[in-house]
Amino acid sequence: MKNKIIILFFCICVIFSTISLSFYIKYNKDKEINSNNNKSIKMIKVAYNSIFNAHKITAKVQYYEILENTKVLNKLKDFKHAKNELEKNLIRNKLYNLLIKKYTKLKQLGIIQFHFHTNDGKSLLRFHKPIKYGDNIISIRKSIESANKKFKPYFGFESGRAFSGFRYVFPIIYEKEHLGSVEFSIPFEVIERELQAVLPKIKYQLHLNKAISYEKIFDSYKEEIKESNILNNYYIQANSIENKNKIEHINIIEKRLPSLIKKEQVLKEEDFTINFIEKNIPYRINFLSIKNANNIHEAYLTCYCNFEELLEINKRYFIFQFLLIAVSFIVLFLTSLLLKQINHIMKKNKNIQQLLDTQNNIVILTDGENLHFVNTKFFDFFNFKSLKDFKKYHKCICELFCENDKFFHLGKVKENENWLDRIQELPHSERIVSMLAKDFSLHAFSVTINKFDDDFMILTFTDISQTILNYIELEEKTIRDKLTGAFNREYFEQNYKNLLSEFNKDDFHFALAILDIDHFKLINDTYGHDIGDEVLIQFVKTVEKYSRKDDIFIRWGGEEFLLLLKVHSKKDLQKALEHIRKVIELQEFSKVGHKTCCLGGTMYKEKENIKETIKRADQAVYKAKERGRNKVVIY
Ligand code: GH3
Ligand code: MG
Ligand code: MG
Repeated sequence: MKNKIIILFFCICVIFSTISLSFYIKYNKDKEINSNNNKSIKMIKVAYNSIFNAHKITAKVQYYEILENTKVLNKLKDFKHAKNELEKNLIRNKLYNLLIKKYTKLKQLGIIQFHFHTNDGKSLLRFHKPIKYGDNIISIRKSIESANKKFKPYFGFESGRAFSGFRYVFPIIYEKEHLGSVEFSIPFEVIERELQAVLPKIKYQLHLNKAISYEKIFDSYKEEIKESNILNNYYIQANSIENKNKIEHINIIEKRLPSLIKKEQVLKEEDFTINFIEKNIPYRINFLSIKNANNIHEAYLTCYCNFEELLEINKRYFIFQFLLIAVSFIVLFLTSLLLKQINHIMKKNKNIQQLLDTQNNIVILTDGENLHFVNTKFFDFFNFKSLKDFKKYHKCICELFCENDKFFHLGKVKENENWLDRIQELPHSERIVSMLAKDFSLHAFSVTINKFDDDFMILTFTDISQTILNYIELEEKTIRDKLTGAFNREYFEQNYKNLLSEFNKDDFHFALAILDIDHFKLINDTYGHDIGDEVLIQFVKTVEKYSRKDDIFIRWGGEEFLLLLKVHSKKDLQKALEHIRKVIELQEFSKVGHKTCCLGGTMYKEKENIKETIKRADQAVYKAKERGRNKVVIY
């Protein structure tokens, strides 16, 4: 379950990262496209501004020439002071004749509009349309207002009655008298032509803002203009209509653009760019906001070109995106395989668990050290809630084997040896361990070991307590003395050969001692046979308590005992027997007080008959009695 949650969390993280990275890729793609668009807008603006400034210089030169031309200035002065229209028309004609040659030259410089205005802002003489004059233009043209009211020249884009374009309007002041103004203007088609020459791959179209300029237009011109197919509330002028046909795929562009342009974008009256791909052709349409000298947006200069890099950018980011999704998909796919595998293992584990739980014995699955599965019988027996609970206290079930020498336990396993290897070396009949149940009752188990797979072994602990304990009890009865509980002669006779070979190992030797209580008969005689029995019991307890761990104490008969010892030397034997003698001497026997005993010890001589050894010990005891009792004699 925990694993499943981790995997689920991992999958969510992968999906979340993929989405985030996708957004990041998209963000970078948009950033790159935007930066590319901005560069292209900047490039057009530089071209546009340099064309504007170049014409400004030309216009200024022309203006200074006018200011130096006294004939012209005098005509303007005369016009201002003319008494009637007839006189004015006469002067207008003279002025026209005076400058018509100049106008021809100006036209070659792109200055199509050469226009004089009166000091009160009326048209005085339009060289491009001489028959049209006298109309009030100050109210519709800020440039005329600037030159005639503020006496400041005006340089900038401005729409007009007939043309829209760059306007260069200068006030004319002669002999401190304001005579009106003169205008040198460049219509948009000239600007467009020049832009075309600088940036030939781009096509241009001027979209004029209806709200600003439509009202100004001469009615006769209104028929020649057309609503913009691209921008709402914008119109295009006659020359732009003709230019339109020069724009490649204009039909496609006009079809696609309106749906791509957001209304708010246009209302902001700032530069923007629209990119799109149609039939694998990438288009870029820049919209440059054209502002007049008073910073009022008058039109959009739309610039059409192919955006070749867009395909390359799209391709590059598509590869990123594809790789990202492919990697995420592979990761998710592998995770799903892992999840499947986990499910499979979990199912398998569940089956194993169910199988183990049906067993009546304790069954465990182990690699020799750690437990991997145990059945419910295991929990019932030891009173653990779960394997985790068990593992808090123990690593291996072997830690729970009681150190009973009759059975297998860890004390019988050498260091660095695996208990499973050790137990398997034993014959089947000896593969028995004892363990304490939850109620502290001792149970004996026969251990069966089977291979589960390459790594695991399945261990079955079959409870044989009843059989084995009965057997042990019976065995105990046959080898122990009924009165004192010490081993009996039968035990000695059955085991002395084994004990001889076991005690005579390494640096050790088998030694034997006979213990005989001094004047025991006197106890019987003085206190009675029962008290004599009590003394015998207490004597055995004392010797067993104070003899060494490996010593074996046997009731040989009546008040005579055999002590079998494992010693290095005679000296060792002397020391051990002397210790027992002293312990008995100091022991207070109930009701009878202090008693002593004689100890006759001897070392087993190699290959001799055990009877010979016992005989020597017997002689040694005899000698001890002879020497006055409470003695140790070694032969
Ligand atoms: P010594 O110092 O020479 O060994 O003198 P002793 O009296 O200890 O030796 P003796 O062999 O003369 O006496 C042994 C006595 O132990 C004889 C017997 O009645 C008594 N006895 C033997 N078995 C038992 C027994 O199981 N219970 C009791 N109460 N007495 C026993
Ligand atoms: Mg005796
Ligand atoms: Mg005796």
